Amino acid sequence: MTTEASLVREYQQYINGEWTVGSGRLFDDLDPYRAAVVARVPAGNRADAARAVDAAAAAFPRWADVPPAEKQTLFLRAADIVERRRDEIIALLAAETGCAAGFAGFQLLTSVRLLRQASNWAYLPAGEVIRSDIPGTFALALRRPLGVVAGISPWNGAQVLAWRTVVNPLAFGNTVVLKPSEQAPVSAGLLVAEVLDEAGFPPGVLNVVTHAPGEAVPIADEFFDRPEVRCINFTGSSATGRILAERAGRALKRCVLELGGYNPLIVLADADLDYAVEAAAFAAFFHSGQICMNARKVLVERPVYDTFVDRLAARAGALPSGDPADPRTLIGPLITPAALDRVARDVDEAVAAGARVLVGGTADGPCYRPTILADVPAGARIHSEETFGPVLVAQPVDNADEAVAIANATSYGLSAGILTRDNQRGFALARRIDAGVVHVNDQTIADEPQLPLGGVKDSGWGRSGPHSMADFTELQWITTREGTGSYPI
Ligand code: ADP
Repeated sequence: MTTEASLVREYQQYINGEWTVGSGRLFDDLDPYRAAVVARVPAGNRADAARAVDAAAAAFPRWADVPPAEKQTLFLRAADIVERRRDEIIALLAAETGCAAGFAGFQLLTSVRLLRQASNWAYLPAGEVIRSDIPGTFALALRRPLGVVAGISPWNGAQVLAWRTVVNPLAFGNTVVLKPSEQAPVSAGLLVAEVLDEAGFPPGVLNVVTHAPGEAVPIADEFFDRPEVRCINFTGSSATGRILAERAGRALKRCVLELGGYNPLIVLADADLDYAVEAAAFAAFFHSGQICMNARKVLVERPVYDTFVDRLAARAGALPSGDPADPRTLIGPLITPAALDRVARDVDEAVAAGARVLVGGTADGPCYRPTILADVPAGARIHSEETFGPVLVAQPVDNADEAVAIANATSYGLSAGILTRDNQRGFALARRIDAGVVHVNDQTIADEPQLPLGGVKDSGWGRSGPHSMADFTELQWITTREGTGSYPI
């Protein structure tokens, strides 16, 4: 507990343009590094979610018809507000999510760019004219928004992923109810509401409902039971994504899922090894391995394997861990003690089964030391499952074909990197990898608002950015016919 409890800010939920406590109960939002209380946040319930869906449904018809120029002004104002509040948001990300300065800066930059780019999406072509074979008939495939989109956002990239959850559907004319992660209710939710409120978004266009740990399901129940909610827009683990997709199937609602990954980084023998070591250290350990795009396995051609892993282990062992608010820190804490236990369990299990620790392998307070494992047996969980921490599995390969085969031998398919000086060869390999994103001569982590980030297989459905128009609109076939026709009966 903090020593100055009176300074801890109490938040309210944001429903229909108003701040409200809702159920009346508050819960403690904890700092993962110090376990101090960062904020006191409403433990919302199903009734709060119901009011939020009502508000979003009522706001929908008008928001769907707001002229593009008006939407543009609102999004651009929101971008300016995020920029103005930059330092405060970076401090909040450190306190609430353990996010060190590098990733916080990246989140801010990408969020602002997303808002600025999305300000123009209302001007994207709203459909096509398609030739009809019926004389005098003029046919259109017209894009129109779905209605209410329920967003469920995670804690790890709290800012950038909350903005993505909200901005993509809003830009195409939907209204949104956002349920942020209980680990980051402010930075993944309420802060977004503060910004859009100040920017002047009309009441009900965005609503944010928060909840205490372990109390997500009643809010999700409301989303699935309400006919006005037409789509579930989720970013989080594949396990939760599977539950939501099953429920969406039963309710015949769309779902957009950005899920986990077991992302391979391939190092070919011709790679620039200095660069490859830097790229691998970043890919494996950025944000303490708590990004869906972190590299989980590095596949290295045998002639350079020993040199590469020795140098990468030295680099990993030198990364400073500790207080995320200290600008020198590169490895912050894991989000909860339970997350730390899971990472330690997976590493210990692999070691007990014969894996070798090249570096790390232990916790350092609430942080886990950057870890590289070799000789991980196929039966160990970490051989093919995402451990959401700073742990990389290293494996030698005989050639690029073997690397591609191993890269594809997982249930996931989010991101991959191929480090080579031969871009043409890298491009040919990239096309054989089953992943939503492949970077040639680069590592696995990247996000640009205009590019279609998303996964295949267990990594999800749907794409972010302007390409999300396909996810957040329906095509309506409209015809108009000149004169009269004749029918067979
Ligand atoms: P993590 O375990 O890393 O928190 P999750 O995928 O469980 O990842 O969490 C991502 C988001 O999904 C959070 O907002 C969380 O509250 C929400 N969530 C978790 N379980 C459920 C569920 N059964 N129904 C709806 N939302 C859920």
